[in-house]
Amino acid sequence: MNRDRLIQTFQELVSIDSPSFGERAMADELTRRLKSLGFTVSEDNAGEYYGGTAGNLYGYRDGRIPGEPLLFSTHMDTVEPSRGKKAVLHEDGRITSDGTTVLGADCMAGTAAILEALAELEEEQADCRSLELLFFIGEEKHLRGSAVFDYAKVRAKESYILDLSGPVGTAANQAPTLVDFQITVHGKAAHAGFAPEEGVHAVAAAARAVARMELGHVGKNMTVNIGHIEGGVKATNIVPDTCFLMGEIRSYSHEQALEEMKKIEALFREEAEKAGGSCEVHSTVPIHAYQVPEEHAGVLRFRRACERLKLPGTLNPTFGGSDQSNLSLHGISGLVLSSAMEQVHSCSEFTTVSGLETAAELVKLLMQDRD
Ligand SMILES: [Zn+2]
Repeated sequence: MNRDRLIQTFQELVSIDSPSFGERAMADELTRRLKSLGFTVSEDNAGEYYGGTAGNLYGYRDGRIPGEPLLFSTHMDTVEPSRGKKAVLHEDGRITSDGTTVLGADCMAGTAAILEALAELEEEQADCRSLELLFFIGEEKHLRGSAVFDYAKVRAKESYILDLSGPVGTAANQAPTLVDFQITVHGKAAHAGFAPEEGVHAVAAAARAVARMELGHVGKNMTVNIGHIEGGVKATNIVPDTCFLMGEIRSYSHEQALEEMKKIEALFREEAEKAGGSCEVHSTVPIHAYQVPEEHAGVLRFRRACERLKLPGTLNPTFGGSDQSNLSLHGISGLVLSSAMEQVHSCSEFTTVSGLETAAELVKLLMQDRD
C-alpha cells in the first residue's frame, strides 16, 4: 500500500463536509475519483426524494477475473458534529479529529480503503473482479439512502460493506430486525381536585402497561425498550388526557419481533380500555433480520483473504443495522467488515494508519479473489 497516498486520501475525504442529506460535495469528489479509475458512475434521485443535495452513487467497472461482480459499499454521510472536520495524524499512528467534531472515519476509513485498493490495482495493472460500488446517502438517518435505491441494476449477489467498528479482520454476518413504535394512550381530562372521577388518567393507564412490559433483554435474541414518555399538560390540577410513548424492539428473528409488537399493542389496548380510554399504535420496521451462513461464498472469500493477511477472520453478529440490512432485502447477501474506525459517533472517534492500511489490503485481496 502507498501509505502516504492512503493517509492523504483519508484526510481529503474527512475535510469534506458531508452531513446526512448534504452529501453533494462528497458525491462530486467520489464521482471524480471513480471516473479517473475507469468506473462508469451514476447517481440516483434519492437526494430529491428526501430533500437532500445528492443521491446514492453507483459505480461499475469490468474486470478480467471471471465471475459475478463483487459489490463494495460505504456511506457518504457523517454524524454531527461534522462541519469543518480535520484529520490530525499523531506520532503513534493514530488519526483523530481536532476534538471539536467527529473524525468521520465512519465511513471515510472504509471509503479511503476502497479507493487505495483500487489505486494499487491500477498501479500494478493487476487483474481483479468486475466491481460494483455503492456509496449511500443518509445511512445515519435510519438507512434512508439504501432503502430507496433501485437494486435492479445491481448484478452482484455478494457484498462487502465497510462500516463496522472493531479490529480489521472481523466481520458481522448477522443483524436484527428493528421495530420502532409510537403509542398514544387517550384518556379524558377532568379537574384533578373537583372531579377526578370524571377523568380517564392516560398517564396512569400507560404506566400500568409499561410496568407489565418485559424490558431489556427478553430471552436470548431480543431486546425491548421504551425510550421516551410524555403526557398531560404542564399543570398539576388536570387529569391528563393523553400519554405518548416511543420504543423499539430488536430481534435476530423477524417473526419474533413482529410477534412482540403484537403483544405490546394488546397490552396497551387492554390497559387503556380498562381505564375507559383508548390507544393508537404505530410501528415501522426499518430493518429486517438477516444471517449469512458460514459456508457462504462471501464468507469463504473473506476468510481466505484474512488468512493471507494473518488476520483472525472472525464472524460476529451485530445488534445494529447497516446498509447491508437493505441489500439483504434485495437478494444481495454479504458481510459488514470492520473498517478501522473506533469510538464512532463521538468527538473522540479515531482510526490508525495501520488499520487503514490493513483494511485497504483486505479490500484489494477480496477484489482479486478467484473463488
Ligand atoms: Zn457508518
